[in-house]
Amino acid sequence: AKLGGRNAVCFFDPSMQADVHARADVEAGLWVALEQRQFVLHYQPQVAADGTVLGLEALVRWHHPVRGLVPPDEFIALAEECGLILPLGRWVLEAACAQLAAWADHPQRSRLVISVNVSARQFLHEDFVAGVVAALEHAGADPRRLDLELTESSLVTDIDKVSAKMEALKARGVGFSLDDFGTGYSSLAYLKRLPLDQLKIDRSFVRDILVDPNDAAIARMIIVLAENLGLRVIAEGVETAEQREFLAGNGCSAYQGYLFSAPRPIAALEDFLDARATQ
Ligand code: C2E
Ligand code: CA
Ligand code: CA
Ligand code: CA
Repeated sequence: AKLGGRNAVCFFDPSMQADVHARADVEAGLWVALEQRQFVLHYQPQVAADGTVLGLEALVRWHHPVRGLVPPDEFIALAEECGLILPLGRWVLEAACAQLAAWADHPQRSRLVISVNVSARQFLHEDFVAGVVAALEHAGADPRRLDLELTESSLVTDIDKVSAKMEALKARGVGFSLDDFGTGYSSLAYLKRLPLDQLKIDRSFVRDILVDPNDAAIARMIIVLAENLGLRVIAEGVETAEQREFLAGNGCSAYQGYLFSAPRPIAALEDFLDARATQ
């Protein structure tokens, strides 16, 4: 089916052939990257209103031998299409769990939660729950310190199946956040049927929150919705103190964004945490 698709593309538009080859190169490079351990996780702090670091979002980067640090927007979609997201997603989970385990005896870091992004294809795979459990157990990580960030695209399929998967992990203590909330195409009905813990306000609404009344209205709506459903809410992409003030004034009490810190490699992140702890 895949080959047929490619042939069809070439037949209708020869100019796309180069594109197809370029994609095939990147795809091949990604498999090599996985084998040669070229992926790394950076971590971005998630911060409470009083400045306490609540947790960290793990964000994958590709440390390419020639191109340097490649951001996920340049390879995640392709990894989803070619199936690499399954082993890559598994690696991300294992690396995050190993980090949790490494911090387990640390006076401050042991209470941190790590949020891991899960793509729809990964979540919908039949081995997903077993894979998460295996990653936790293999590392010896506390499941209550793991949060999984799902997007609406993971939830709009078979709601009973989705809910059963989430419940299976919830029973062990794993948390769930709904990422990029408001940018999807689903109904709100699933929100009350799924065992979510937190909504993430997408940064596309935060960016212009002070100047665009529509974005401000959507952000407010999400905060009120979360409150009414008994969910926590976190705003992402917070870059200025003014944005944080506006969000705080509307009842949002957790933030993530460059105002606090960009995503950092682990050593720089630990420096950031230590500097905060001694303040
Ligand atoms: P996301 O999950 O929405 O992650 C937030 C993105 O916003 C990150 O981009 C982060 O670096 C960026 N960001 C954080 N604070 C700010 C800010 O104040 N301003 C602006 N302009 N941007 C900010 P990043 O790291 O490039 O990741 C892009 C996307 O790639 C992520 O969006 C997520 O969808 C995907 N991704 C990253 N890591 C993984 C992973 O391990 N698995 C999967 N499936 N997807 C991943
Ligand atoms: Ca995310
Ligand atoms: Ca997001
Ligand atoms: Ca996003």
